[in-house]
Amino acid sequence: MQIADGTVVSINYTLTDDENNVIDSSDGGEPLTYIHGANNIIPGLEKALSGKTMGDRLEVAVPPQEAYGLRDDGLSQVISRSRFESSQDIEIGMQFQTPTEDGVTVVTVTAVDAENITVDANHPLAGITLHFSVEVVAVRAATAEEMDHGHAHGPGGHHH
Ligand code: ZN
Repeated sequence: MQIADGTVVSINYTLTDDENNVIDSSDGGEPLTYIHGANNIIPGLEKALSGKTMGDRLEVAVPPQEAYGLRDDGLSQVISRSRFESSQDIEIGMQFQTPTEDGVTVVTVTAVDAENITVDANHPLAGITLHFSVEVVAVRAATAEEMDHGHAHGPGGHHH
């Protein structure tokens, strides 16, 4: 079966950046299982997988525009420590969920000093070209229930 909209696809993958640092990998865990065409994965990777079949291996470089977007320096904000309930434990790299007009956004702490904390609302992978090494391990038709939910069930998918 070829990968097309409405198929459930399982992949083993390793994701690296331009410097070959491993960002994420399914190594040692379950494959990633998703519904093709349901916006479950980034558009650039989904496009590259279209038409592939079980056993295919591919190397894909996905530019930020087809992944998590370009970085927007306007999304960085300096916030007074006094606005945090307890600011003494806040360190660079910590992530918080904050409510915004567009729903909940995850912000990352990028700088701390005696008075202020700088947070960045860019996705941690914004502006980064993503290099995927992928092996297609299974392709099957999605069930009506999976299509209804918009995600895959079973091993590697949602369990509910
Ligand atoms: Zn479900």
